[in-house]
This record gives sequence, C-alpha cells and structure tokens, in this order.
Amino acid sequence: MSTSPGFGRDDGGRLWVESLPLDEVAERFGTPCYVYSRAAIESRWQRYRSALGTDGDVCYAVKANGTLALLNLLARHGAGFDIVSGGELERVLRAGGDPARVVFSGVGKGSEEIRRALRAGIRCFNVESAAELERIAGIADAEGRPAPVALRVNPDVNPETHPYIATGLAQSKFGIALEEAEALYQQAAADPRLQVRGIACHIGSQLLSVAPLSEAAGRLAALARRLQGQGIALDHIDAGGGLGVHYVDEQPPSPAEHIEAVTAPLRDLGVAVLVEPGRAIVAEAGVLLTRIEYLKHNGGKEFAIVDAGMTDYLRPALYDAPHTLEAVAPTQAECRPVDVVGPVCESADTFARDYPLPAAPGGVLAIRSAGAYGAVMASQYNARPRPPEVLVDGSRSHLIRRRETLDELMAGEALLAEE
Ligand SMILES: *Cc1c(COP(=O)(O)O)cnc(C)c1O
Repeated sequence: MSTSPGFGRDDGGRLWVESLPLDEVAERFGTPCYVYSRAAIESRWQRYRSALGTDGDVCYAVKANGTLALLNLLARHGAGFDIVSGGELERVLRAGGDPARVVFSGVGKGSEEIRRALRAGIRCFNVESAAELERIAGIADAEGRPAPVALRVNPDVNPETHPYIATGLAQSKFGIALEEAEALYQQAAADPRLQVRGIACHIGSQLLSVAPLSEAAGRLAALARRLQGQGIALDHIDAGGGLGVHYVDEQPPSPAEHIEAVTAPLRDLGVAVLVEPGRAIVAEAGVLLTRIEYLKHNGGKEFAIVDAGMTDYLRPALYDAPHTLEAVAPTQAECRPVDVVGPVCESADTFARDYPLPAAPGGVLAIRSAGAYGAVMASQYNARPRPPEVLVDGSRSHLIRRRETLDELMAGEALLAEE
C-alpha cells in the first residue's frame, strides 16, 4: 500500500487514507462522512510556510474549512488566520489561534463583529468600503483604541476562473477601486482613530495560473510606493489566497510558485507579505465518503443514487464543479458511465454525469478533493442532519465532528404555544 501522506491505492485495489483503508473508515463512522488526512494538511501547510520565509505570515482562510480540530492543528503550527465573520473569529479563539495574527476580511462586517475583533486585538481589518472605514473608526473611538486597517483594493485583473469565485474585477462587489484607494488612505492616515497597517487584495479562487496573482501584486506594489512617497508607512501587504487545486485534470501551480509570484513584485518595499490560502491547504487533504443506495434506469441513463447530497457537499450543485469519484474497494461490477446523484429533491443534486464507475448497490465511493468548501457549506435542507468529519493520523482516526442528530437539527425550534 501507499505510505505517502494522504491517499493512495494498494495493489489489491483498496483506497487508503494514510494507514487506514477507507472502506473500514466508512464502516466505522457511517456515510456520508468527510475524511481528512492530517499528514496531507501538514505537508501543504509546511510548503507554504517554508516558501514564505520568516518575514511574512500565512493566514489560513477559515471559510475553506473551519472545524475546530483543523484550526487547532494549524494554530499549533503557528498559522495566522483570515476570517470573514465574528463566528469565524470565535472559532479561531476557541481553537487556540493567536488573535494578533488574524486578519478580518468581508464586505459586510457588522458593528458587533467589529467591536469583538477590536477587543480581541486582531492584526488588521481588511476594509472593503469608505462607509465601513467610517464605521470602524467610530467603533474604535468608542472603544478608546485605534483600529488597525488595510484597504482591500480591487486591482481589476481577470483571474480566469469561474464567475462565482472571481472577486477582483472592477464590477465585483468586493474591494475598493484602485483609483479611489489613495484618497481614502490619506483620510485614514490622518485619522487618529485608525492605524494604517497595509494593503490587501484577493482576486478570486481556484486560480490555475499565477500570472493574475503577480499582476495584482504589481499593482499593489505601485500603490504602496505612492503611499510610502506620501509618508504613509505600511507594515504589510496581504496578497490574498486563491491558488487552485487538483479536482479532475487541473495542473495547479505549487505553493512555492504562488509565493514567488506574489512576493517578487513586493520585494524591495520593506514590508511583510501575508497570504491567505484556504483551498490550497485543505482541499486535496479531504474526501467525502458516500454509499450507493440504489441503481436505476431512466430515459436511457443509469443513475447511482448515493446517500450524500448537495446538503452535504454543495460545490457540484452550486458551481457545476467537476470532481474525481472512485470506488474505495474493488468490486465485481463492470465499469460503465453512470450519473451519480443524491437523495435531495432538486435536479441540481448531482455529483457527476456519465461518469465511468464500477457502481454496485452498497458500494462506497470517495469524492476526492472535498476538504475545502465542503463541510462548511453543509445545510439541513430536506431535514438532513449534517455529516461527521474524521481526521486520520497514521492508523488512528479522530472523530472531530460527530454526525448531527435530529434533536440538534430541531434544537432551536418551538411549537406554537396553545391559546
Ligand atoms: C475566500 C477567501 C480566501 C481564500 O481563498 P482560497 O481560494 O480558498 O485560497 C482568502 N482571502 C479572502 C479575502 C477570501 O474571501
């Protein structure tokens, strides 16, 4: 069998996660179930960390996968964190993350979230509009402590990715136009309620070329030089996340290539460089295990109906995102094209179309590269409890989130009181 970090198939055709066969993991924890490899996460993390060197910070994007045990694992390796809500801040704090290494992104930060982050002592607010800058300044004033800020600028480069995950174009809801940023920086620098810390950007996700990332960094560098020329000191430049991963046949650049692309244009500015990778750290380190419940034929097609649905893993339904699917154990069934669909009452509840699989009822499939934007997007639509998550470390498996119960699913609800 494969002893390399992550996932591999042995000569007998069984798929393993580290030192455990995935069919045994499915038996033990049931399906659907997310399974992560600790070694795979650590190896991706380490590649980022060593590429960036000591005068920068890798701020893991919590929204990709914010399960406490994963955050705790990364915190123990010295990670910084990129958050987009007060809830994610709370997760980072409970997982033992260092608030001084947290950057707070997102277009709609609420007053309570801002106050909490200010009190926690985060490193920087990545501010997305003039109105938000004003609100942060007001809260900082009331709290009696200046707020550390960077403006998230919109460099207007095309990341050549899916339109739903492109965020750096001029027409996007994210960021502040480069032309407007300079005046806003001057205003912030003159405001005693604010401390200008840096410049931030994030142009999109699942990028398969580093060219747009280095182009964006180049535009940030030009802005940084102008600001420094006006006497506005900068502590860091945050180049965002966005590196793509392997789902089907993509050939993404490596973390080292990502780091080189964003640091090269920033090198002689004398500022720290931050990056915010999410997907690139955890996607390939996870699979979703699902069992085939039924086979059926309709309209000349064969369907494999599995026990995972779009409620467990939304990306295929949301973005039509392609994935690699594999049987975790060898079967006698013939390999043939099937549509792999979930039990949810929506036609979008489809994981793959005409996908060659040796499908047989009871067989367990692994949906590969499901470690990012998977469990975090799970919902309870159709009153489906959310799936468990298991972290495998060598031959040990840790249940890091148990399967939701029906009681938990209905916990906040109340019947109408009788008159
Ligand atoms: C989503 C997001 C990230 C992480 O993106 P990935 O593509 O998962 O690396 C980083 N920064 C910001 C501001 C984000 O919104």
